[in-house]
Amino acid sequence: MVRMDRYQSFARSALGRFVVGKVGLPDPYPLRRHSPDQPPLDGPVLLGGSGRLVEPVGAIVKSMGLDLVTTGDRYGALVFDASGIDTVERLRELHEFFQPVIRALGPCGRVVVLGTPPERAESQIAQRALEGFTRSVGKELKRGGTAQLVYVAPGAEGAIASTLRFLLSGRSAYVSGQVIRIGPADVVAPEDWDRPLAGKVALVTGASRGIGAAIAEVLGRDGAHVVCLDVPAQGEDLSAVANRVGGTTLQLDITAPDAPARIVEHVTQRHGGVDIVVHNAGITRDRTLGRMDEDRWDAVIAVNLGAQERVNEALFAAEVVRPNGRIIGVSSIAGIAGNVGQTNYATSKAGVIGMVDSLSGRVAGRATVNAVAPGFIETKMTAAVPLFIREAGRRMNSMSQGGLPVDVAETIAWFASPASAGVNGNVVRVCGQSLLGA
Ligand code: NAD
Repeated sequence: MVRMDRYQSFARSALGRFVVGKVGLPDPYPLRRHSPDQPPLDGPVLLGGSGRLVEPVGAIVKSMGLDLVTTGDRYGALVFDASGIDTVERLRELHEFFQPVIRALGPCGRVVVLGTPPERAESQIAQRALEGFTRSVGKELKRGGTAQLVYVAPGAEGAIASTLRFLLSGRSAYVSGQVIRIGPADVVAPEDWDRPLAGKVALVTGASRGIGAAIAEVLGRDGAHVVCLDVPAQGEDLSAVANRVGGTTLQLDITAPDAPARIVEHVTQRHGGVDIVVHNAGITRDRTLGRMDEDRWDAVIAVNLGAQERVNEALFAAEVVRPNGRIIGVSSIAGIAGNVGQTNYATSKAGVIGMVDSLSGRVAGRATVNAVAPGFIETKMTAAVPLFIREAGRRMNSMSQGGLPVDVAETIAWFASPASAGVNGNVVRVCGQSLLGA
């Protein structure tokens, strides 16, 4: 699926291409996104390195129906196992592998570097160094290419399939420059990788529109029964989304004092529990701090953070999150970088990262807790941003374009997969490698 904004359409025209090339303007390449009738990547995978991950990665690549090659003139992905690099001198292996082939990476190609978590590695220095390499490659890649670093803990070699399937496909079209950590976990591969959530119940807050509606759609596509939650005023839109995804609705304001109890009661009575909870509902009430009244402050903290904490506590206290459960937060790059006019919003979104940090350890073994941090995503929320700020937000990333709600949703679906049991405590930005907070 290809969708272009107005500048992007111009930049792809004959005149536009000439002007963009001459003046050095941003060149937003149309991103290749997931489509069930297309292979995950447009080209074969070249796999290099000599660590403990070469074998499992090779098997996963083949099971995806992708060609694994040792040489060629055009690649869909370059994957390098750096997990065994145990001295600073051996960092030169990165240069030896990538330098001769990087320019043969095709459009929307993928670079994935695999490492060992620095604190668990023979050389903490060398493994930490991989981050600078990968993030720079992401910035150099043109034409919709992405680059990520995946730290795989010793013992987690069998827990990487869902992550590689996500990264080596159009599902991760707008994710670049990220560092992902995978820990050991007992992972059972889903019977059908196209419907990994079959039999699962997912609750999505703020599901009537924008990113929430896309999350409901993607989780429904992947086989989940989706309970779509939103405020009563959004009832009509909410029903339309629920009907589209074959799910059900739950109308309530998550900040209401009885909201946690009503959610627990709903999922218990209707479904006997819940497998996946996506805290997507969020609001902005922007003003610079000196002009911000306490209502704006309180409302944003209550919806974006306080309600989520209370709902999580209630769900775990009532033990309604089923085994191998998933709690997924929606943060923002504003929660990482801060933003003018958004002290309230950035506080709440940084708090979501705090929630991941605190809860992921506490409920480990019962559920994973992760969050996405979207950058500029094309929704009603960002359409309301003044033109020049909007244009800056859209272009200030390695992809020179805004992401789509589906990009956030696909990332959440990867966290939600039962095969992602080793992906815990991560905050992954869906921001096209935004310069903000990088
Ligand atoms: P949106 O305003 O289109 O949708 C938010 C939804 O949440 C709405 O349907 C709204 O009714 C619902 N909601 C608000 N308060 C609620 C409450 N008290 N109880 C129940 N539901 C409530 O926004 P969006 O752009 O789709 O954003 C979704 C999430 O992504 C938000 O958390 C937002 O902060 C985050 N985000 C968005 C962007 C972006 O670029 N659009 C960037 C970073 C983060």
